Amino acid sequence: MADAEPIEQFRAEAREWLEGNWIPELKGRHNPMGMVDGPTDMSEDMVQWRKRLGERGFGTPTWPSEYGGAGLTQEEAAVLDEEMRRIGAYNPIGGLAVGMFAPTLMEFGSEEQKLKWLPPLSDGSMRGCQGYSEPGAGSDLASLQSFAEDKGDHYLVNGQKTWQSGGQWADFCFGLFRTDKSHKHEGISFLIIEMDQPGVETRPIKLISGKSPFCETFFTDVKVPKENLVGEEGNGWTIGKRLLQFERSGIGGGGARSLMKSLSEEAKQLVALDEDGKIADKELRQEIVEYDMRARNFFGTVVRAQIEAKARGGPSATSSALKNIGAALVQKRSELLVEMRGMEGYGWEGEGFTDEDLAATRDWLWHRAVTIYGGSEEIQNNILAKRVLGMRDHQ
Ligand SMILES: Cc1cc2nc3c(=O)[nH]c(=O)nc-3n(C[C@H](O)[C@H](O)[C@H](O)COP(=O)(O)OP(=O)(O)OC[C@H]3O[C@@H](n4cnc5c(N)ncnc54)[C@H](O)[C@@H]3O)c2cc1C
Repeated sequence: MADAEPIEQFRAEAREWLEGNWIPELKGRHNPMGMVDGPTDMSEDMVQWRKRLGERGFGTPTWPSEYGGAGLTQEEAAVLDEEMRRIGAYNPIGGLAVGMFAPTLMEFGSEEQKLKWLPPLSDGSMRGCQGYSEPGAGSDLASLQSFAEDKGDHYLVNGQKTWQSGGQWADFCFGLFRTDKSHKHEGISFLIIEMDQPGVETRPIKLISGKSPFCETFFTDVKVPKENLVGEEGNGWTIGKRLLQFERSGIGGGGARSLMKSLSEEAKQLVALDEDGKIADKELRQEIVEYDMRARNFFGTVVRAQIEAKARGGPSATSSALKNIGAALVQKRSELLVEMRGMEGYGWEGEGFTDEDLAATRDWLWHRAVTIYGGSEEIQNNILAKRVLGMRDHQ
């Protein structure tokens, strides 16, 4: 661990850089899902801020500098984060490709691939979508049928993917495609496909909320150069599973800090208190306190798991446990936030609801999906049974 002096020196450096580069007009405009469920924010200030972060490597601070990062330690990155929060600044660079594809490419990609695909992710000038699920391949992902036929210097891809988060706004798709029909797992390869080319068609899937954050993606005779194959042909299943571990630790661990924000404190603004200043409804009080304690324990476990993952060179099957526990917590949190608002917590539109009330309802509904994406809760339990507990398949 770095001693106090260099880290404080870094804090001073980060503070000075932020003073000269943060654009205060952007305060309060942070949408953590912005690089996933909507078009990229192309307003002048946001473009400028992403560019500055990218140039300094602060958008992806722990990445090596040759790939667009700043080569910071986790400790320095945490300090940068603290310094941003202190002045109301934030890092808008993120999304699926930054969180899942980039660490996978760093592990399995060639040097040319890393130099080509990582820098434009580090300044938000490119974004990717995940091409895994198909209409007949969700939990049983290895049943996927989209076929990449070997044509010498390129593959010719035909097939359909579904549930691509942000597919209609993505520049490329990273995903799993069949290169051999005679072997289920060994017949899968990991490809990068540019979206803006003939034969790629996205059809947004409209949700009950009216939003369309996902797509079906159709590939018809799409030419994919061989240089876009990551790792060996037929090794896609191993690479694809690694990416899922990054996805799951992101879902379970990435939000852990926000889950820590005390619900008891929030409740005091929303519900009746007794004469001692405690939440008057005993049952609700107990649920909230229980939540706060579990969230704190979870955060501690996430930090431990991150240290362990670093020591082993990446996440393990533990990411499945973190995903399930994090998902249960985020669902419980959003359920309690709705409950605390009483009738106002069930608003969808119209008079009598504040923006926060409406956001609470939408958050609550949105979080139902956390136990599905990145592999369902049952699938994580299967992985834990097999990989962690060493249990065999029940015949
Ligand atoms: C919000 C959201 C975003 C998504 N984004 C993407 C994306 O960007 N890219 C992408 O490729 N996919 C994406 N997906 C798809 C997601 O990965 C799949 O929905 C998920 O893997 C489950 O597959 P399925 O929907 O086909 O359900 P199914 O596999 O049909 O499962 C249905 C039910 O059966 C259960 N089940 C299935 N098999 C077993 C088993 N062996 N043991 C026990 N229970 C089982 C499941 O747990 C589930 O409850 C997204 C999904 C959601 C909800």
